[in-house]
Amino acid sequence: MQCGAPLVIKVIEGRELEACPNDDYVLWRDPKVAAAVVVEAEGGIVLGRRAIEPGRGLWCLPGGFVNHDEDPAAAAVRECREEIGAEVELTELLGVYHVAKTTASSIIGIAYRGRLVDGQKLAAGSEMLEVGVFTPGALPPLAFPSHREVLALYAGEPAPYASPPSPGRASWPPRHMR
Ligand SMILES: [Zn+2]
Repeated sequence: MQCGAPLVIKVIEGRELEACPNDDYVLWRDPKVAAAVVVEAEGGIVLGRRAIEPGRGLWCLPGGFVNHDEDPAAAAVRECREEIGAEVELTELLGVYHVAKTTASSIIGIAYRGRLVDGQKLAAGSEMLEVGVFTPGALPPLAFPSHREVLALYAGEPAPYASPPSPGRASWPPRHMR
């Protein structure tokens, strides 16, 4: 399991996967998990304008990656606290979205509806240039196509379940080190 050999491509269960040439180790690549929240506030939904890449200067829903030991709902609330400076109460599970990637882990996203807890005020977090409230029909340019999917779920439109499959073979060859 830890022989340090460079991985080679083996065909396993019909897929080309990176595996150790010396033993039975297989590098199973798992998706990352993210959460995003459509936060309802007075007059619309809350977006932040990103101060960092990717998508610097564009707008996004509050959200981010779920930590390994974290409930996705807790991650969603934490990301709202960090990015829009407010306590948010989740009110509905909107659905699941998928971001296929070829050069990094694909993302499985969990989308929630939420609302500002009474008395909370919006404040841009360190990763945001500003926060704003927009009506769903008049949104500024969004950083991530996946957030359009989330907003479609929010609008009650059917989810687009036609994403292409992720490639069976990764495009970069890590060594067998763990
Ligand atoms: Zn090995």
